[in-house]
Amino acid sequence: MSGERELNVNDVVDEAKDRADKIRKELTFSFKNLWNPEDEDEMKSIMDFSEAYKEALNEGKTEREFTDYTERLLDKHGFKRFIAGEPLKPGDRVYEILHGKALIAAVIGSGDPLEGFNLVGAHIDSPRIDLKTNPMYEASDLTLLKTHYYGGIKKYQWVALPLALHGVVILKDGTTVKLRVGEDPEDPVLTITDLLPHLGADQMQKKASEVVTGEELNVLIGSIPFPGGDEIKERFKLGVLQLLFEKYGVAERDLVTAEIEIVPAAKARCVGLDRSFVGGYGQDDRVCAYTALKALIDLRTTPKRTAMVVLYDKEETGSGGVTGARSQLFPSVQKRMVRSILGREPSAIELQDQIEKSAMLSSDVAAAFDPTFSSVSDPLNHSYAGRGIAFYKYTGARGKGGTSDANAEFFNEVTRLLDDSGIPWQCGELGKVDQGGGGTVAIYQADLGMSVIDCGVPVLSMHSCFELTSKIDVYKTYIAYKVFFEKMRE
Ligand code: MN
Ligand code: MN
Repeated sequence: MSGERELNVNDVVDEAKDRADKIRKELTFSFKNLWNPEDEDEMKSIMDFSEAYKEALNEGKTEREFTDYTERLLDKHGFKRFIAGEPLKPGDRVYEILHGKALIAAVIGSGDPLEGFNLVGAHIDSPRIDLKTNPMYEASDLTLLKTHYYGGIKKYQWVALPLALHGVVILKDGTTVKLRVGEDPEDPVLTITDLLPHLGADQMQKKASEVVTGEELNVLIGSIPFPGGDEIKERFKLGVLQLLFEKYGVAERDLVTAEIEIVPAAKARCVGLDRSFVGGYGQDDRVCAYTALKALIDLRTTPKRTAMVVLYDKEETGSGGVTGARSQLFPSVQKRMVRSILGREPSAIELQDQIEKSAMLSSDVAAAFDPTFSSVSDPLNHSYAGRGIAFYKYTGARGKGGTSDANAEFFNEVTRLLDDSGIPWQCGELGKVDQGGGGTVAIYQADLGMSVIDCGVPVLSMHSCFELTSKIDVYKTYIAYKVFFEKMRE
């Protein structure tokens, strides 16, 4: 008798559990880790994709170099320079370079251009150390370069490691000299010195933001003096200047107008015994630039809506300047392309309608949850490495200050497209509410009247000299952009 009774109770419990499981499946939602090592084909695709991506990181360590790299890549895949005023037809592949530091590439769609384009925008500048306009000096038998850092860096991360010098110098006669020192294994590297711990008693008491100050980020560039003994004035500086002139034809005056950037000399590497991460400098935001470019290049059929990749400069300093996302250059190129597709002069209101009907992914890296520093994050609302492309409905700081805050309708439209195409995604925001925050280029396209939402690859150690991205996120982001170009509002 008692056995039968127990069975009945268990039946009731089992039934309730089944019902809860069913309801849970229908009503609840969570984002999943995407690694599936059993799928050997996918694993190979992920690993192969990341090898090419590492190459892109090594080739394009500055916005100018990434622009040059992109141009080579596009040329190889049948893209031509866009010539304003010349007609464009469906399937045409074109690009325009803006001041050597920003770029717009497009695959022309088969539909009415006035119905809008599908855009993915990313930035190709990264936090770094720039030379000051009058950089060179000698002190205590050393030759050094004064610097002014660019973007949000933790200054203490930039001392006592191998650094490379990249940039352009325009000579007196107008010729451009491209400098790239410290990348070839045969090259020397430069460095910024740090204080030895033996004498670091005072330094170690300072706040992290003051341990190394901006004026202490001085780059060591040499110490062999110009021959002739100590009668020679500024002989250590002269020794380096002579080398610079012999090798590159560059004199001190040329440095004044030059743009020279100091970046980590290390190459991108696989990280982890399982090689699951790409580690390297400048992944914010070249990971989104590269995945967007690859998605555009790999379009096999002509999409209905023109697919466009926009690569911005100056995001890390607030998107100002002629090559920053606030510049009118970017919508102007879009308008000129509309005119070339239409084959007539569109009216001002037609062009404005065109912008308003365009859809954009503002593609910038997300912060990946770091269990070592979990206290700054809300685990429910953070993006995780290994869970795919991360959407940020809003960014900003101190009560969403400075955000674009995508409309629910547009957020849903984009994620529904991904759901329907079987593309996984996650969401997140940049840390706990009062912890800090950040912004992207989204707001500047929104200002023009375009529908736009932030999304991108989660990054660990963001803005450091060695940022990390999960290879599966890089690959899945590429797939998501491809679907966006192929199917958004088709
Ligand atoms: Mn950044
Ligand atoms: Mn960024």
